[in-house]
Amino acid sequence: MTAALSPLPARRPIRELPDTLISQIAAGEVVERPASVVRELLDNALDAGARRIEVRLVAGGVRLISIADDGCGIPQDDLPRALLRHATSKITSLDDLQAVETMGFRGEALAAIASVAEVELTSRATGSAHAWRLAPAEGSALQPAARETGTTVQVRELFFKVPARRRFLKSAATEQAHCLDAVRRHALARPKVAFEVWADGRAIAHWPAADLQQRIADVLGHEFLDESLPLDVRAGPLHISGRVGLPSAARARGDRQFAWVNGRFVRERTIQHAMRAAYADVLHGQRQPAWLLRLELDSALVDANVHPAKTEVRFRDSAAVHQALQSAAERALAAPRAAHATETAAPTDAPPAHRAPIRYPHAEERPPSAAIAELRALWGAGGARETEEREEPRPAPAFHEEATPPPESDTHQPLGRAIGQIHDAFILAENRTGLVIVDMHAAHERIVYERLKAQYEQRRIASQALLVAVSFAASGQEAACAEECAELLESLGLRISQLAPGQLAVRAVPALLAGCDAAALARAVLAELAAHGESRHIERAQNELLATLACHTAVRAGKRLTLPEMDALLRQMEACERADQCNHGRPTWRQLSMKELDALFWRGR
Ligand code: ADP
Ligand code: MG
Repeated sequence: MTAALSPLPARRPIRELPDTLISQIAAGEVVERPASVVRELLDNALDAGARRIEVRLVAGGVRLISIADDGCGIPQDDLPRALLRHATSKITSLDDLQAVETMGFRGEALAAIASVAEVELTSRATGSAHAWRLAPAEGSALQPAARETGTTVQVRELFFKVPARRRFLKSAATEQAHCLDAVRRHALARPKVAFEVWADGRAIAHWPAADLQQRIADVLGHEFLDESLPLDVRAGPLHISGRVGLPSAARARGDRQFAWVNGRFVRERTIQHAMRAAYADVLHGQRQPAWLLRLELDSALVDANVHPAKTEVRFRDSAAVHQALQSAAERALAAPRAAHATETAAPTDAPPAHRAPIRYPHAEERPPSAAIAELRALWGAGGARETEEREEPRPAPAFHEEATPPPESDTHQPLGRAIGQIHDAFILAENRTGLVIVDMHAAHERIVYERLKAQYEQRRIASQALLVAVSFAASGQEAACAEECAELLESLGLRISQLAPGQLAVRAVPALLAGCDAAALARAVLAELAAHGESRHIERAQNELLATLACHTAVRAGKRLTLPEMDALLRQMEACERADQCNHGRPTWRQLSMKELDALFWRGR
């Protein structure tokens, strides 16, 4: 009896594929969509030393991508070879490959593109009397053409020969957005090169040659600078520079994470992972921070030939890169910023549009008063600052003149002088820039957290015995955990012992948390320990544990403070590392500048 098998397919003989088909197959890896063509052509223009690059798109790049540069051009007799597979002027040997300094080196981009679209090259090499034009679709002969030194590559009707690929393309608007993203990445990597982008005859981007700072502002907007901190370190052969975004400006999508290795935009696991680790301490949950990182190292220490699209690289010593990057980012994020508050109000006077809403740490959310709603609107909308940016400087309003001058010590006390408290949740302070608003609970939590961390690193968190032990009902698992982890709990300043089956008692708490709800604290810590399973894994989770401790700090919102107490809190914040964010990545304080206050009351309009 035979099962109903389908007949074996008729076997065909092995054949060598024709060249065009090989290119079309290879093109699948290089050319995914119009943006990949843009990327490759920009690489070529930059490799040719261009100072000015003009990109023109029609129908999202599907109808036409035209990229013109003022680089060194391609000599007449080289032109036909530019479109051949594995033809390149950039490497000649394996040694060259292992230390490649150019963006391109595989010699396949133009060939791949030409196999799935109509390509036309016009180029005038340095020193040539005129340009030459190569348009294979119109016949193979070279024709003289008029052009300044440089190259124009035109790519028409992408995938017209491969309808199956064409069906995967998205709307013209989406493809255009991807193309613009590709230009952005190159523009950020090469601020000295001017870029211009036209779409369907309209100019959509114009970024003149600039320094990196200006280029970032041009390409990503000024907020990116306001919401990020600079970073510049050398670790052995590695130079890391760029900016790391404030945790409070993190967003749901990771679309503001840029990394270049030796000028090449990459998505690389080591970098991603190091950055996640660097933010682990200051960012809550799945929020994605922004960052812009330029890694420079000897090209022999990194392999760029990992993927045809060259968006991946392999580091010779990825552990060293990981470590250098993580610690550089951590240090940049830890630098106290309060010190800058009075110098430049920029980093904080314009809170990000994406910041978490102000939360009252009380269980029940109070309805915001009208004034608070106003402040929220001001912070949330970000609209006020856009108009502010374009505003010409104007004479100081009368209010400035009448205001009492800020205290002399202002430079040493950037967060200024406390003037009061509202709703027992926010402290208001006056500094030279204007008004400082502090989320009391968040600020205190951050300070306590950093102190706990410092104590823990000294191997011991100071503990305070409770006069009366606080007992609470506990599950079998909690009781077992308390016993098993007694030593670790002790090192956290917590003493918990069993009173009776199903009953635990807290006998000591960290001195910094004196006055807290000891039972709630113990329960939270035990739950955390249970979640991390075996205690030998806990070392890794220590910061989470400390954060859990800190969040039980006794100074919750809802407590009345005296002015000296408020001032003391401000001074502690200035001294504290990372005082700008609470442990959950929420900001702890905000600056409202006089300009913003004026805007709030329509002064000077
Ligand atoms: P690769 O960049 O890997 O060498 P390509 O297929 O992208 O391969 O380009 C092939 C060759 O064509 C390059 O090596 C270079 O000599 C030449 N070429 C391409 N674009 C330009 C340009 N814009 N300016 C000068 N030369 C270019
Ligand atoms: Mg190339």
